[in-house]
Amino acid sequence: MLTAIEKEQGIADEKFIRLLRQNKLKVTQPRLGVLQIVSGKETAISQPELEKLLGDSVDRVTLYRVLATFEEKGILHKIFDLHGTATYALCSTDCDEHHHHDEHVHFICSACNSIYCLDDIKLPRINLPEGYQLTSVGINAVGLCAQCKSLVK
Ligand SMILES: [Zn+2]
Ligand SMILES: [Zn+2]
Ligand SMILES: [Zn+2]
Repeated sequence: MLTAIEKEQGIADEKFIRLLRQNKLKVTQPRLGVLQIVSGKETAISQPELEKLLGDSVDRVTLYRVLATFEEKGILHKIFDLHGTATYALCSTDCDEHHHHDEHVHFICSACNSIYCLDDIKLPRINLPEGYQLTSVGINAVGLCAQCKSLVK
């Protein structure tokens, strides 16, 4: 008999296995582990944080490669926090290989440094001068997250 948690875990794994196969990636434990952690978090996560949560099961080089592959395949997108550290969050479903469409504002909390994807707040269209080519646009809104705000009286 599977417990409810094990069952839920199984369903989540199936979803991630499907996602990896769709992207023509081999299903490996480090890849599944990263997807489990990132999808279970409301905020973006940095490589050092991931390292801590994965423990000894994944070495640094492997983790680095998993993140690079996921970014390239449009599974994760990278956001830099206020200290310039790269953090990662799950992509919207319309991202694909070499093309990210995570055109939303990111909120960075200046107190706890958490990064939230504000999926409902779209980026404005940027009209560049003639001859320029756009690669990416990023807008960070900085302030206090709901949790930190509630601590300020
Ligand atoms: Zn993306
Ligand atoms: Zn906060
Ligand atoms: Zn995002």
